[in-house]
Amino acid sequence: MMFRFQPESVPPEWRRHMLHYSDLAYKASVAKRRGAIGLIVVTGPNAEVKQQLIELEMEAKNTSSSIAAISISDDLASRILAVADKDLARLQQQLDKGEPMQGFAIPGVELAADLAILREINQGRNVIARLTADVPSARSPVIIGAHLDHLGRGEISGSLAREDERGKVHHGADDNASGVAALLESAQYLVDMKKAGKLGSKRDILFAAWSGEELGTLGSNHFVDQFSGGDMLHGKVSAYLNMDMIGHLREKLYLQGTGSSDSWSREIERRNVPVGLAIATKDDPYLPTDSTPFYMKGVPVLNAFTGAHEDYSSPRDRADQLNYQGMQKIARLMAGITRSLARSESEPDYIEATRKQSGLSRKHLRAYLGTIPTYGQDEDTKGVKLQGAVKGGPAEEAGIQNGDLLIGLAGVEVETIHDFMHALGGLKPGEETEMIVIREGKRLTLRVVPTSRD
Ligand SMILES: [Zn+2]
Repeated sequence: MMFRFQPESVPPEWRRHMLHYSDLAYKASVAKRRGAIGLIVVTGPNAEVKQQLIELEMEAKNTSSSIAAISISDDLASRILAVADKDLARLQQQLDKGEPMQGFAIPGVELAADLAILREINQGRNVIARLTADVPSARSPVIIGAHLDHLGRGEISGSLAREDERGKVHHGADDNASGVAALLESAQYLVDMKKAGKLGSKRDILFAAWSGEELGTLGSNHFVDQFSGGDMLHGKVSAYLNMDMIGHLREKLYLQGTGSSDSWSREIERRNVPVGLAIATKDDPYLPTDSTPFYMKGVPVLNAFTGAHEDYSSPRDRADQLNYQGMQKIARLMAGITRSLARSESEPDYIEATRKQSGLSRKHLRAYLGTIPTYGQDEDTKGVKLQGAVKGGPAEEAGIQNGDLLIGLAGVEVETIHDFMHALGGLKPGEETEMIVIREGKRLTLRVVPTSRD
């Protein structure tokens, strides 16, 4: 029987350090190595969570561990522990101090559980169309794509629905109907051009709508596997352009993955002349979207993105929130780049970049603030620029506003998003701490009480 999370009544540095070991999958593998045949996971009364029981659906998805696990209520755990004269809350208090503690046996208790893993098998379909070169060609095609799946009613994964929105349809207007609409617009534009005899393409162009992106880029992965036959895609795919969330154009369009090829900056500059978008480029080619399976196989990639927002991954991501003129311009730019690549004799060069490790992922974080960082701020700004706070979240309660520049959290100086994640790792739900922001040139200290992410 084990607690979720980690010791919490310890200094923030300890919490940050121990976060890495608090993941349930990690604990399960340690238990298994030590000879456990099963796990009983308990939350405990001190953890301040929303739900005592864990939704195992998500945890079971990507693992094939052979250790059996159940999650039980604090009440049931207390009754089991009572047999050994132990008190759940007291045990948790002791463990929360972070001091090593021996495990103990509970003699005379026998537990039985019926466990069944339901492996749900579903079918998704990629939809792919081909616009052939002017003269049939063996040259590698240019591919442009967008994912067509979303979160359903939020039962799959990754829903950020608020309590009162649970189970409602997640429309996915920005993520990613916007990308699919731009894909169709680009296809129409290029087909019209071909009809008018103005396309001049030396390569085929593939238009791909991917399935299963939200579950982990399943559709694009499948395509890449099939198309590459396990080899690299040099010479088989010239370049891959992706559009994921392009419906909220504000000041700038972010073009990500420019570190994947030296050709991008010149290409973007030229094709943007007739469109005139304000563009910020981002080098890092390791992106959480369908471009990454291509990049991993040696293909230069470019992803168009207009930034995260408060309605992201929730039933509030609706069609009336979209910037349609912006989408049209982005579609035109991406079609222009696609055309230019299809007219070229040569493939753009490919650059292999090393992966930047941020160390902590969101799923390891214990505490929740509900800040919404501005995506793709200027690289020389020291601090994390916020575009606001999630309604009803701790940061909003603390008074965070659109435009605040976060420079400190819980005694940690925040210069980058990585510093911010690092500081978040040290927070304890329910324990007040301070955020330091710059607002209109003035330095403000705000008091904030983080809540539990779970
Ligand atoms: Zn998406």
